[in-house]
Amino acid sequence: MRIVIIGAGVAGLSCARALSAAGRQVTVLDKGRGLGGRMATRRTAEGFHFDHGAQYISARSDDFHTLLSEGAKKGFIAEWPLGKDHPRYVGTPGMTGLAKFLVEGLDVRRQQAVTTLEQTDRGWVLDCADQSFEADIVVSTAPAPQTAALLGQGHPLTAEIGLATYDPCLTLMIALHAPLPEVPRILEEPDAPLAFIARNETKPQRPPTPAFTAHASPDWSLEHMELEKGEIANRMADLFCDRFGISHDRIAYRAGHRWRYAQVSKPLGRDFVVDNSGTLYAGGDWCLGPRIEAAWTSGKAIAEDILEQV
Ligand SMILES: Cc1cc2nc3c(=O)[nH]c(=O)nc-3n(C[C@H](O)[C@H](O)[C@H](O)COP(=O)(O)OP(=O)(O)OC[C@H]3O[C@@H](n4cnc5c(N)ncnc54)[C@H](O)[C@@H]3O)c2cc1C
Repeated sequence: MRIVIIGAGVAGLSCARALSAAGRQVTVLDKGRGLGGRMATRRTAEGFHFDHGAQYISARSDDFHTLLSEGAKKGFIAEWPLGKDHPRYVGTPGMTGLAKFLVEGLDVRRQQAVTTLEQTDRGWVLDCADQSFEADIVVSTAPAPQTAALLGQGHPLTAEIGLATYDPCLTLMIALHAPLPEVPRILEEPDAPLAFIARNETKPQRPPTPAFTAHASPDWSLEHMELEKGEIANRMADLFCDRFGISHDRIAYRAGHRWRYAQVSKPLGRDFVVDNSGTLYAGGDWCLGPRIEAAWTSGKAIAEDILEQV
């Protein structure tokens, strides 16, 4: 039984880990150079360190708590004390820590963007730029619009997958020459253009340099979506300096990032989708909600369904 999973984000790795633990052979393909998808970390040549996607992990279910505790014991995860009613965790030494924990022992092929997915008499064929993969079962954990594009307009699952919607998010990574000690570890101002700001250096095992990640609101992001990345960084750095009343000469580094499919605004409301043949699954956070735990739950539920049927 050949199983190929598209995506090495939380959902794909969660699915692969559960299948592999049950003795199944799984190959995970990801188009990126790193692991973790939107749970992303950037380290710059200058030594700055930013989590520029998801900022923290929270756990609602006992199962996910248990997983995070295991990851913490092995040094991949730690609590980020925020003084909230329930604990928030981060990957260590970057948010990709959780992905690095999940990936242990798995066969993951990076820089393999699946460009076409075709069902033949002998199963599925997945084409990447210079290699093809064959599978009896395919699981796509790419964001819903990307999964829908792979399946094509005529596929029976495409319309349902299209019901899930996302907010976009533009992100600023900005490091300063000196700290801004008055800024809390996270600052949430949902009505402001910079709706969420996090201080990376306050997370465990990060370099001490003052490094902020600022996520723009969905409205501001949508309005400025097509700016090139340098311009995104400049406009958002202006907003950042205005917000804290500082001058631009305090900036040591700035960069922008565009998340076209950032946080799920309307999830599907079920764990995953599967075609009539039971050989094509799709899932991810877009099934259950805009959270790392939702992606993990969806991936695990797909694995359980596959294990039940084979
Ligand atoms: C700005 C931002 C802030 C967030 N903040 C938080 C937070 O604080 N807490 C929280 O819990 N959640 C947060 N989230 C949401 C969280 O990051 C996601 O819910 C979760 O990471 C989704 O995991 P996933 O595996 O479903 O998808 P993804 O992480 O998107 O993984 C999908 C993977 O598929 C790969 N892929 C796509 N197409 C192809 C292809 N054709 N071929 C091969 N590979 C492909 C991608 O490279 C990617 O690695 C945030 C997200 C963003 C963007």
